[in-house]
Amino acid sequence: FSTSRIRNFSIIAHIDHGKSTLADRLLEATATVAARDMAAQLLDSMDLERERGITIKLQAARVLYRSEVDGEVYILNLIDTPGHVDFSYEVSRSLAACEGALLVVDASQGIEAQTLANVYLALENDLEIIPVLNKIDLPAADPDRVKDEIEETIGLDCSNIVKASAKTGVGINEILESIVKYVPPPPPPTGGPFRALIFDSLFDPYRGVIVFFRVVDGAVKKGDKVRFLASKAEHDVTEVGIMQPNQVPVDCLRTGEVGYMCGSIKDVLDARVGDTITLSSEYKAALAKQKEPKNDEEPITPLPGYAESTPMVFCGIFPVDADQYENLRDALGKLRLNDAAISYEPETSGAMGFGFRCGFLGLLHMDVIRERLEREYDLDLIVTAPSVVYHVEKGEGAKKTVTIVDAPSKMPEILRDMKVMEPYVKVEILTPSEYNGRIMELGQERRGILKDIKYLTPKRSSIVYEIPLAEVITDFFDELKSRTQGYASMEYQLIDYREGDLVRLDVKINYEDAPPLATIVHVDAAQTVGRRLVASLKELIPRQMFKVPIQACVGVKVIASASISPMRKDVLAKCYGGDLSRKKKLLQKQAKGKKRMKAMGKVNVPQEAFMAVIKLN
Ligand code: GDP
Ligand code: MG
Repeated sequence: FSTSRIRNFSIIAHIDHGKSTLADRLLEATATVAARDMAAQLLDSMDLERERGITIKLQAARVLYRSEVDGEVYILNLIDTPGHVDFSYEVSRSLAACEGALLVVDASQGIEAQTLANVYLALENDLEIIPVLNKIDLPAADPDRVKDEIEETIGLDCSNIVKASAKTGVGINEILESIVKYVPPPPPPTGGPFRALIFDSLFDPYRGVIVFFRVVDGAVKKGDKVRFLASKAEHDVTEVGIMQPNQVPVDCLRTGEVGYMCGSIKDVLDARVGDTITLSSEYKAALAKQKEPKNDEEPITPLPGYAESTPMVFCGIFPVDADQYENLRDALGKLRLNDAAISYEPETSGAMGFGFRCGFLGLLHMDVIRERLEREYDLDLIVTAPSVVYHVEKGEGAKKTVTIVDAPSKMPEILRDMKVMEPYVKVEILTPSEYNGRIMELGQERRGILKDIKYLTPKRSSIVYEIPLAEVITDFFDELKSRTQGYASMEYQLIDYREGDLVRLDVKINYEDAPPLATIVHVDAAQTVGRRLVASLKELIPRQMFKVPIQACVGVKVIASASISPMRKDVLAKCYGGDLSRKKKLLQKQAKGKKRMKAMGKVNVPQEAFMAVIKLN
């Protein structure tokens, strides 16, 4: 196969517009997957992905397609991408391995926030964008209106737009022909050394690290020794292959192709996403030829990599049962091999015991990892409320020091002579214009700065805010949805750190400090948040045999308080003389209720209470 008959493309879309379903149809139409092996959203192989109906990890698949136009067979490499904000990191990775992108837009919904965000990413990567209107089978579909919307807002030429239904199969062949016709083939080999871009890697317990890559130049085969430029690691290749979408070994992978390799690679850090793979022999030859090597200059030029992903939200994760600490550590280590965007380090706290402070790209990412830990590794966990990262600055000029604070309880109590910098994000919201007013109210409430508001079409608006990330990671998205009856969509990205007038709000339970419940709030909101938090904790913490006072404090000052009245009767009292099995049941029920609790002093605090601060209403 010459590069002229290879096409590498991604499918991009807003969540739920039908990417994965469309990918299924493409696999089916090209008979890549036998009909009996076909399952809906085949590429979403994780249980969690199937249940939630979202794609979390990108997946790649190669299909062979015989064009009806020229009768030639083409290799189409398709990379399915996740659509959610938290995973845009994965999207940008897949795009860098492609020349084209299918932009799928739901013909009954139109352009959403993620549609735009993905288009920007595709344009940054110089991809040819092929627009596809999906779900035209729906009665509510309005392909002509949505086509106009795409032309007007994105400025794409839609004269060849494909109208399709991933459900009924309409338009699938047209899509395949469009890919052959409009996606440019990869550049042919230059005769230079082998170079390949790693776009994903995962750890397989039997075969070690499996590296997924796109060959940019040259070729690699089984038995070669490769060198990863950034990590400087060298490994023997024991297998190269393609994804169909299950892994199938091949002899050799050449310029323009997408595939995987494995060897005796034990550590994912050796083969980091974004790194360039070269051949050891060619590397040595190039090194020998280098006349005057400048400092650190590689003899083979690395491919442009990806931006490192930085965790945006942090939370504490603790096993309910201290015995599970080692298991939790192993599990985090394994997940991290699969998902380089997770960070974690040990954290110990008097109340919570031994656990980890973990960093994530966003709330959904955090939630997905928590669920995978509990499910795939059978752990019972207590997770503390998510927090953003603050930079506490002290001093000026050369003497300036910056302390990174990734947990509210680590924030200094007295901030004299210090500046607290907090992360800001640019939020872009797309909404039917009738909700503009309500969205602006929400933005106002969350310390947002309105930057732009414009009509994309007479009925749809784009609203851009700059908002502290801390305000977005609470219930912002839920509020946005409920105030717009589910019609608005949003997308955000980190812009910078800005000074904020912030204080640490501490919680005391039964007069004892509860550091995992502490939170950072804007001075003006301290009173309200304190009052609501106390009220909410009062509901969430079960009654004890004694009265439990709950206080919210800023420094030594109590700004809100409430107390949980003691239990009136022994729970078992009503069973006196009653039958034993009922008594047992009650005790069992109590034991179960205790499962997700941590003792703060003499009081057991349930999991829900740790999350109370992000769900204040
Ligand atoms: P993704 O989030 O973009 O990957 O979207 P999915 O492929 O998971 O699809 C989201 C939902 O839309 C699923 O319930 C699909 O069954 C449904 N869907 C996808 N394509 C079509 C279509 O062409 N017509 C109809 N009626 N439903 C579709
Ligand atoms: Mg999907």
